[in-house]
Amino acid sequence: MKIVKLNFIKEYSIFLWLVLITILGILMSNIYSNNKMQENYKIKSSLGNIYLKKVVKELTNSLESRYIYKNYTSKNGDTYQGIINTLNISKDEKEILLDSIAKIKSLKLLKINQKFTFKLDNMLESKIIEFKIETDKKNEILFTKSKSKNIFISKKIQKNFIKKLAYKETVITDSLYSSAINLGISPNIIIEFARLYGFQVDFQRDVWKNDSFQIIYEEYVNENKKIVDTGEIIFASLNLQNNNLQLYKYEYEKNKIDYFDEKGQSIKKTLMKTPINGARLSSSYGKRKHPILGYTKMHTGTDFAAPTGTPIMASGDGKVTKAGWCGGGGNCVKIRHNSKYQTVYAHMSKFGKGIKKGLRVKQGQIIGYVGSTGLSTGPHLHYEVIVNGKKVNSQKLKLPSGKILKGNDRKDFEVTKIKIDVLKSDLVSKLN
Ligand SMILES: [Zn+2]
Repeated sequence: MKIVKLNFIKEYSIFLWLVLITILGILMSNIYSNNKMQENYKIKSSLGNIYLKKVVKELTNSLESRYIYKNYTSKNGDTYQGIINTLNISKDEKEILLDSIAKIKSLKLLKINQKFTFKLDNMLESKIIEFKIETDKKNEILFTKSKSKNIFISKKIQKNFIKKLAYKETVITDSLYSSAINLGISPNIIIEFARLYGFQVDFQRDVWKNDSFQIIYEEYVNENKKIVDTGEIIFASLNLQNNNLQLYKYEYEKNKIDYFDEKGQSIKKTLMKTPINGARLSSSYGKRKHPILGYTKMHTGTDFAAPTGTPIMASGDGKVTKAGWCGGGGNCVKIRHNSKYQTVYAHMSKFGKGIKKGLRVKQGQIIGYVGSTGLSTGPHLHYEVIVNGKKVNSQKLKLPSGKILKGNDRKDFEVTKIKIDVLKSDLVSKLN
């Protein structure tokens, strides 16, 4: 009997322990959640405290730094409103900025490549405390927020740069690019040089060893005689197999500059011969065995082999009529330039920013990037020119010329041209 009773307690003690542990567990979690609620309440009530609110704000602000600078460089088609709309500020503040800009005469006309800098204070309701806009390479307007009123006070500031004219000349030994780099010409200027001549020169096929070039361009030098920036090309001459192609910078209307040859004819042609830089012509227009389909077929365009991602330019001003999938052509863009000319660019890896049907594009604007989409064996640009609805060989096309200066404009241009020629001989004499 005794043994039985003991066994009974032994068996039940396990059960009792289980009950005890369960009760303890419930009690503990209750105390814990009670504590948590109290804590939450404490946090909430202290967050209600304005002083703490400010401290928290300051702490989080300091993490993303109180002052930030936003830079912007104006592009073709930009407006002041559009630029200010890129800032994360209130509508009222945007209006104050626009009003301040509108008051400045020298800012009336927004030019391309004007630099903007905005200084923002994240702790203020009205964030912008200072901003500046470059009027030209040497001058800028500084706007500072008035301490008492919600307005900006402007001041013209002259940058400590000296504008210098650089003259460089050389005979091309291997490539135009490396010859120019060897002369210490900045890549910006080389790109601009190639762009200006892109209307009439196919850099892949027209430039040969022993061809030569001369160039005059602006350089900005600081107090330490260091070149800090480059300006515009004033003059250039490219001598290709004794074919001398010259171009002169000329302001034909206020704030509108263009480049003209010695006869006063704009160097801008309706279409570029090669809408891509640094490409190799890999397949010309005409009958050929198709690399994928295998049979002989008419190749109705010109192929330029280039690495994936190489920018493709609109070969002339015009309207985008297609930016989408073209079957065998993969991602393609079609542009209508005028009633006579259309161009097609195929096999793109991606489209240029904002490029879509109906958009007006400028000559030289990036419309897409080289790829190998559609029926293609490797990255290349397939480029087609359509004249009056018929596909033609773009490389044999006689391109119509752009603007021709006449009358008083022509006389004025002749004066500019003589001035540049005198300047050139002066710079050449200093070189020796
Ligand atoms: Zn092709």
